[in-house]
Amino acid sequence: MSLLQVRNISKSFGGVKAVDDVSFDLPAGQLLALLGPNGAGKSTCFNILNGQYRPDAGSVLFDGRRIDGMKPRDIWRLGVGRTFQISATFASMTALENVQMALISRERKLFQLWSPAASLYRDEAMVLLEQVGMAAQAERACGVLAYGDIKRVELAVALANRPRLLLMDEPTAGMAPQERNALMALTKKLVVERNLSVLFTEHSMDVVFTFADRMIVLARGQLIAEGDGDVIRNHPKVQEVYFGS
Ligand code: ADP
Ligand code: MG
Repeated sequence: MSLLQVRNISKSFGGVKAVDDVSFDLPAGQLLALLGPNGAGKSTCFNILNGQYRPDAGSVLFDGRRIDGMKPRDIWRLGVGRTFQISATFASMTALENVQMALISRERKLFQLWSPAASLYRDEAMVLLEQVGMAAQAERACGVLAYGDIKRVELAVALANRPRLLLMDEPTAGMAPQERNALMALTKKLVVERNLSVLFTEHSMDVVFTFADRMIVLARGQLIAEGDGDVIRNHPKVQEVYFGS
């Protein structure tokens, strides 16, 4: 059984069918790319999966359990993490403090933020920063970090909740090609090391073909193709959407 099972989900805004009868599976330990031109319905899919939107029809099963219509907080608690396009770290806090706070929040011990225990979850936070390659910059304020490094801290923050599925909508937006590749290589490493499942969107086909295990393609809300790099590259419907041929 796949970790994530999406079955016939639809979502309309007024007369626009943003997502139209979409179904797909995401097994554990796979990096799945969600492709499609602007307005194809990718973000709407993400927002259904993370609980922001309730689908008009269809169902979403995570680990065999229906999560469609559940509150975002409850879906997060089950182990569905996400990264945000706008930075979700606190600029005046250090990288370490940001991850410590995420760990405190996971344990629902927010009252401890006001306790003098600055060492709370310090070791665990350092392990996470190590995993994303940010241990050396742990004591620096996030506000002074390079953009790509902030994204790494955000990954550590997302991992603090021990997600089994991570949703990343345009994680490399605004990044230079080298930074993009580095972030996706890191994501791929985490997928393998943690048996994590990741669903992500990405504009650069180079990045997608290099790192994704599998791809699904949306156009006008509908899923038009699914498969590995070779299948997607040669798929007539994908060619039509991307190259108008
Ligand atoms: P993508 O992320 O692939 O660019 P979106 O999911 O953001 O696509 O949008 C799919 C379609 O749904 C677009 O036509 C968009 O204008 C519309 N849409 C998305 N969100 C809303 C909303 N909150 N209200 C109205 N229309 C929306
Ligand atoms: Mg989008």
